[in-house]
Amino acid sequence: MISDDANQHRQATVERITQQIPRHVLAHYPTPLMQAKRLSETLAGTQLWLKRDDLISFGLGGNKIRGLEVMLADAVAKNANWLITGAGVQSNHVRATAAVAAHAGMRCTAVYWGKPPAISDGNYRVTQMLNSAFHFTGDDDRASVDTHIHQITAELREQGDRPYAIPRGGACAMGVLGHVLAVFELYQQCLAQSLEPDAIVMAVGSGGTYAGWLLGLRLLNLPWEMLGYTVSREPEQASQQIADLATEAAAFLRLDWTFSATDTPVHGGFIGQGYGIPSPEAAEAIKRVGRTEGILLDPVYTGKAMAGFLHGLRDKQFDDYQRILFVHTGGEPAFFAGNGEWLNRTLRGLNNQ
Ligand SMILES: *Cc1c(COP(=O)(O)O)cnc(C)c1O
Repeated sequence: MISDDANQHRQATVERITQQIPRHVLAHYPTPLMQAKRLSETLAGTQLWLKRDDLISFGLGGNKIRGLEVMLADAVAKNANWLITGAGVQSNHVRATAAVAAHAGMRCTAVYWGKPPAISDGNYRVTQMLNSAFHFTGDDDRASVDTHIHQITAELREQGDRPYAIPRGGACAMGVLGHVLAVFELYQQCLAQSLEPDAIVMAVGSGGTYAGWLLGLRLLNLPWEMLGYTVSREPEQASQQIADLATEAAAFLRLDWTFSATDTPVHGGFIGQGYGIPSPEAAEAIKRVGRTEGILLDPVYTGKAMAGFLHGLRDKQFDDYQRILFVHTGGEPAFFAGNGEWLNRTLRGLNNQ
């Protein structure tokens, strides 16, 4: 186990950095850290652990709440009365932001790419129920969300409101800091449970979560490898985005640390046909984890990351690792969007490779 001296130093860092990060706590922490025992029995000697951020007890949970807790503290400090953010209609981040706004007594505007969908289900329905205003960019380019967020923020300010703009997917320095705190939380749990993971697996979307975890691991000087699986951008693009976000968040902590894409490797190959489109590999991984652990992964993020990780294991990429921690970042509302044909195909055996 990590030496006592090193741990005393780490505790001091945890205390010092925690004080620098504003946070409005919305849920009960720590989230469970548990071994996936039955699944591990099928992994030829690898012990798999799960950090259950899907169980974050606010607004249907997921990793986005951690980032939003820091943004909310910042928004309140700036006397904001309106949160504005965006992504696709099934976004977990937008749903979580709408819940945060409701809780804080603020208004919320959700900016979505494309046109309004014919039916309201999954996260979209929940976001509607939470009383968010909607704005569709009419453009299928995901980046169209960014310019519309700016426009709407300016309009709100002009009409006398006090908007707080949150970038698409919640990827900003404030959000990253929320994930730094997740590493501090995990570190305490690992000490208590005498667990030293060799590597951390997670899905990579806009990259803020990975950036925060990496920064947290660096701050505590923990030698745990990051294994990120991109579910939207190409790996090179994702790496660069993560490096930029980590550098920006480090600067907020007054650290002169620069991250580059080589510090933030990302695995590719498991996006399938595109962001948000369930893949047969993800469906298989979801079925396998569901049937061994009774735990639901989601088809957009964690299912694809698990598919990539299980493939890497079979491919003997992780033979040096004994204990691996998978961060379950949430996303289950996606089960209740669409007709579920992606899952039915797997259950009927139509996707058997
Ligand atoms: C957003 C999200 C991620 C990825 O987090 P990023 O910070 O965008 O990389 C992973 N899992 C779920 C369920 C998410 O909603």
